[in-house]
Amino acid sequence: MKKYDVVVIGGGPAGEKCSVYLAKAGKKVCLIEKNENHVGGTCLNEGCIPAKLYLESVECLGRKKYLESLGLSMQNVKFDMLTLKNKKINFLNQIRKGATDSIKKAGVDIIFAKASFVDKESVKADDEIIKADKFVVATGSIHRPHPLLKVDKKQIISSDDVFELEKIPSSVLIVGGGAIGCEFATFFNSLGAGVHVAEFTPNLVPAEDEDVAKTLERELKRKGIKVTLNATVTSYTKEENSVSIKMQTPRGEIEQSFELVLVSIGRSPNSTNLGLENANIKSDRGFIMVDENLLSTNPNVYALGDVVPTPALAHVAYNEAKTVANNILKPIKQKPSNIIPFVTFPIRKLQVSG
Ligand SMILES: Cc1cc2nc3c(=O)[nH]c(=O)nc-3n(C[C@H](O)[C@H](O)[C@H](O)COP(=O)(O)OP(=O)(O)OC[C@H]3O[C@@H](n4cnc5c(N)ncnc54)[C@H](O)[C@@H]3O)c2cc1C
Repeated sequence: MKKYDVVVIGGGPAGEKCSVYLAKAGKKVCLIEKNENHVGGTCLNEGCIPAKLYLESVECLGRKKYLESLGLSMQNVKFDMLTLKNKKINFLNQIRKGATDSIKKAGVDIIFAKASFVDKESVKADDEIIKADKFVVATGSIHRPHPLLKVDKKQIISSDDVFELEKIPSSVLIVGGGAIGCEFATFFNSLGAGVHVAEFTPNLVPAEDEDVAKTLERELKRKGIKVTLNATVTSYTKEENSVSIKMQTPRGEIEQSFELVLVSIGRSPNSTNLGLENANIKSDRGFIMVDENLLSTNPNVYALGDVVPTPALAHVAYNEAKTVANNILKPIKQKPSNIIPFVTFPIRKLQVSG
């Protein structure tokens, strides 16, 4: 039976950085990632990096009027989604290979398998039992399912599926006006699609201050994006080339058809089927409960990144990775920094720190 100083579960930003720090400090470390093509986690594969590549690729289209006023001709400009998708595939393959190489170079053993706890001292990686003195859970998050709209990856999609599109939709309903929804609203609007953002709460980007949210709303509307606040999807019907949506809004019920519906109502912690109960690790609504040093209710198990209730951001995961590595290596325990910069990337960047 294999035995390690530390087993890290999940190869996203949190698990990758934590395992590398620990291995470089001399620990015998095993990183278990369930998918060989998913090293780098959400951030690399269907999060920060492809989203920013997509936004950057259409930035000049979004500034068409302004650029034309400076004398740049934007006549007959064409945009090919398939080229962008292929660019993304090659770009991510390169970065993923670099990330995998640097994990191995640091001396970390990588196992590609789904991990779950068997008891307080061991995990199962597919059928193999692995023991360790300490464990780090970094299994991240998945998109939150909508209570009504079922993602079919064709007409009703999640943010993961945007990166698989091969043609520009004529119209898009974005259900959820958080950071991710607003970023994609800008993307589709720059491509010439008709975009409608339906947000359940009274403000876009509910995590931001109200004046920031109102400024963003004004800017999106100025671009021609329709924004409906306090909106709830009440029913829908799929037709051959569109989805007909009924929505309850402060102005009554509206019904409209869209070629594409993007469901973007947040992220949920990814902690099911991890066997947490076998190792006495407590969770609350899926989030692993941790103390200020990121230690779970099992004194040998730390958790970090999107699977704990701190802001779901890649740089937060990196910072927590350092904290957890330190807390495993040293007797004096650290807390992660609570001064966190936030950047949202629609049109003009919203930058907040605190
Ligand atoms: C569209 C989008 C845009 C984003 N943009 C930004 C941005 O601009 N800036 C920013 O800071 N953040 C952004 N984020 C958030 C960022 O991607 C996450 O905060 C970050 O990826 C969290 O890292 P993590 O390591 O905790 O989890 P993840 O990146 O989710 O990685 C978890 C890993 O664990 C693996 N795993 C899960 N269960 C198991 C198991 N049982 N066994 C083995 N492996 C397992 C998964 O396959 C995955 O690779 C964005 C997210 C999305 C969806």
